[in-house]
Amino acid sequence: MTEQTPIIYWYRQDLRTHDLPGLLQAAQSGRPVLPVFILDDDTPGQWRLGSASRWWLHHSLAALTNELSDLGGRLILKRGNAQKVLQDLLDETGADSVYCSRSYTPWAVKQEEALHTTLSRSGFVFKRFAGALLFEPGSVLTQTGQPYKVFTPFWRACRNLPAPPSPRALSSDICWHSYDDEALTLDALSLLPQEPDWAASWSDLWTPGSAGAEKALDNFLAEQVIHYSEGRDHPAMKATSHLSPHLAFGEISPRVVWQRSLHCSEAFPERRAHVDKFLSELGWREFSYQLLVHFPHIPEKPFKGQFEAFPWLGSQQTLRQWQTGNTGYPIVDAGMRELWATGYMHNRVRMVVASFLSKHLLTHWREGENWFWDTLVDADLASNACSWQWVAGSGADASPYFRIFNPVAQGEKFDKEGTYTRRWVPELSQMPNKYLHKPWEATAEVLQDANVCLGETYPNPIVDHRAAREAALAAYGSIRNNEQ
Ligand code: FAD
Repeated sequence: MTEQTPIIYWYRQDLRTHDLPGLLQAAQSGRPVLPVFILDDDTPGQWRLGSASRWWLHHSLAALTNELSDLGGRLILKRGNAQKVLQDLLDETGADSVYCSRSYTPWAVKQEEALHTTLSRSGFVFKRFAGALLFEPGSVLTQTGQPYKVFTPFWRACRNLPAPPSPRALSSDICWHSYDDEALTLDALSLLPQEPDWAASWSDLWTPGSAGAEKALDNFLAEQVIHYSEGRDHPAMKATSHLSPHLAFGEISPRVVWQRSLHCSEAFPERRAHVDKFLSELGWREFSYQLLVHFPHIPEKPFKGQFEAFPWLGSQQTLRQWQTGNTGYPIVDAGMRELWATGYMHNRVRMVVASFLSKHLLTHWREGENWFWDTLVDADLASNACSWQWVAGSGADASPYFRIFNPVAQGEKFDKEGTYTRRWVPELSQMPNKYLHKPWEATAEVLQDANVCLGETYPNPIVDHRAAREAALAAYGSIRNNEQ
């Protein structure tokens, strides 16, 4: 190794330059750095990057290319089995090291272990750096050395730990490796939808990349955080940060979010309680990751073993009605249509639609998890799997199974004026508030005045709430005694 031996920085879900420990260390070595992103579709079957995530990734890579170019570097794009591509790049460039951020998804962990073994055997250096989380899984354990299975003590333990390290910037005088061989263009990765381009309007909604993430955080702390504690449950209010896709793609470091949020609460003490609530939501992301690391079967199998025997019933037809927002329950349909139209759904509504699928339609939570994986721009293996299991009742610290969300009551409570529901279910836009969340209770006259013809312009409910609730409780009753 000489001062001129390049280091490869392997980008994955950490598409930023600021506060990226591996890139920082590579830069500080003074040796030339070669940043590379590899589109590796060799991930296990259903966890191949989803369609909405691909749209995001395309734009995020474009933003990262510009960010690196402003620093004088060039992002190299490749496609294929990451292990093989990295090995080839080491041979071609004469590099002797690969640095990357540590990943926590089960297949990425295996891939990193395999790379570590093969590269070290051939005399190369393979280094992983923490950077995706505030607290490394394994550093937060109970007094008996076990992973936490309940959120509140987990988060209390996190908050009692020394604060996460302060974010660190990259200096602008990095030495880059010039790579003259063939690299792919962004378009050649074919990440964007074609015929039809269902994401045509998404660029008006989202700004993927670090600059977009910084702006979202700044706006949130300046304007929305003051309403966060109550507002976060109301889908018509823009009271949450919309940082989730930026965090999922690592465009902003959670340590930056943490530090700026604390500065905000120091500068404006009246915002402290809201900032604390916001940080505890980030805590759920941490909790989900530590569950995934300690219980890597979570995306596929119930955390609570007795749910293995749960008598799921759901049909393809009702699944399709749920996916397309045609269940006849307005708040559920609004959420599913928001998801399809924007790649995002408000958290409260995610809980309502997930409960409806797993409890009212008795459809396996994995069907919902898969649909979200494909359609969410913030699809994240840990948060998605843990949240689905939480709602379905089979997860760690899950809401009890017998607590079944009533979609009418949820709509009336959290979208009282109907602004959100009317936006996404325009065929009900003229329904009076009294019947908006239960149009089947309206008289023929009210329906006619609102231009609604149930079964024609808007579906009748696909299940009766009371009967569905009874059926769900009976199904749960059949496995309750298997409790471990
Ligand atoms: P904010 O309220 O501003 O929260 C700040 C950040 O905290 C979020 O960006 C996110 O990173 C994190 N966060 C907030 N709530 C949760 C939570 N319950 N679990 C884990 N992290 C959380 N979130 C994802 O990022 N990816 C997913 O694939 C995902 N799937 C979900 C599936 C279901 C069924 C449910 C009920 C929730 C899911 N969530 C998921 C969690 C949550 O809905 C989103 O993180 C949140 O709505 C994102 O909006 P925001 O950035 O404005 O959130």
